[in-house]
Amino acid sequence: MSEHLAQRAAALDAADELAGARKLFALDDAVYLDGNSLGALPAHVPDRVADVVRRQWGELRIRSWDESGWWTAPERIGDRIASLVGAAPGQIVVGDSTSVNVFKAVVGAVRLQDDPARTDVLVDATTFPTDGYIAESAARMTGRRIVPVDPADLVSVIGPSTAAVLLNHVDYRSGRLHDLPALTAAIHDAGALAVWDLCHSAGALPVGLDEHGVDLAVGCTYKYLNGGPGSPAYIYVAERHQAAFDSPLPGWNSHTDPFAMTPGFEPADGAVRGRVGTPDILSMLALEASLDVWDGVSVDAVRAKSLALTDFFLECVETYVPQGRVTCLTPGKHAERGSQIALRCEDAPRVMRELITRGVIGDLRRPDVLRFGFTPLYVGFADVERAARVLSEVLAEA
Ligand SMILES: *Cc1c(COP(=O)(O)O)cnc(C)c1O
Repeated sequence: MSEHLAQRAAALDAADELAGARKLFALDDAVYLDGNSLGALPAHVPDRVADVVRRQWGELRIRSWDESGWWTAPERIGDRIASLVGAAPGQIVVGDSTSVNVFKAVVGAVRLQDDPARTDVLVDATTFPTDGYIAESAARMTGRRIVPVDPADLVSVIGPSTAAVLLNHVDYRSGRLHDLPALTAAIHDAGALAVWDLCHSAGALPVGLDEHGVDLAVGCTYKYLNGGPGSPAYIYVAERHQAAFDSPLPGWNSHTDPFAMTPGFEPADGAVRGRVGTPDILSMLALEASLDVWDGVSVDAVRAKSLALTDFFLECVETYVPQGRVTCLTPGKHAERGSQIALRCEDAPRVMRELITRGVIGDLRRPDVLRFGFTPLYVGFADVERAARVLSEVLAEA
């Protein structure tokens, strides 16, 4: 049986149009299935960062704000991310963490709405905690209240008192993909604004921000975008909202003429309004370098491979692992699946520790969920077969 699946894996790898991308990354023989938490290092990034430090900072010093393009990096890199999430240029800026951008986006959405009768901010009840914490504070500061909602029940909860809705495109725990086009349309039908968190979808599947009329969005860059630990996040403000977007964090970088150093705040036009203070250049330029791995890559091809990888993983797990030993929390339907598989199992902490010892790197969400992220640019089908085989060996030893 395992010979058959190993042969299938070899054939799938041989036919994989993205297989060549793996050599762009610094990887060893471990199977790295944690790119949904920290993407792998693109191999050329260390030299580029060394150049930023040695030459741009060390030699050019202050001149680099102009000559090395430091000052405009947030919007320049934003435009590169825009092409990966279906946004036209001029709508995304990079900077700050996802947490901070959730704050800007939720307060910004309520202020754009500017309707005191709309008292509620709906938030995905199963959200990654930081989004919920920040949204609660943003709601309190704007005199609104938070209403937790299961995205599946959104249509029955949303109504004339809804100001804005904050949802995750892909659930970080289960790997469930939510229907962004349909949910955005439902939010608009109710007269509310849609704020999407793309942390687990950007770089893994097509998002279509412009096409589906999303109002605001945020996301991180260190998961499927491989920007590096703590690399800066981004905020998308749809062009039609930019003139009225009233950031709760108006810094000098969001001013129309920062170097005028005037006491009164006059917001810049466009996405730049989403900036706050001096950009963290070292992290930001590491991110910019890392985005080179996307040159010539189609996000549709990434999505097709991602689904093929997760399908194959589920097939291998079903074949190798005794019935009932693990329960898959990730939906089987392609339309509802992100780029990770979450398996619930007894003794999950021990199982993940053992997997890591044997070179299969996933992660644990306490108490009992094993998460495996599949980054199509550097994970192959032989990796998938090996991961499922090692998992079955570890489970057999319990
Ligand atoms: C990864 C992730 C974050 C991380 O936020 P930070 O501010 O970068 O720590 C936030 N929200 C979601 C949904 C995530 O998946």
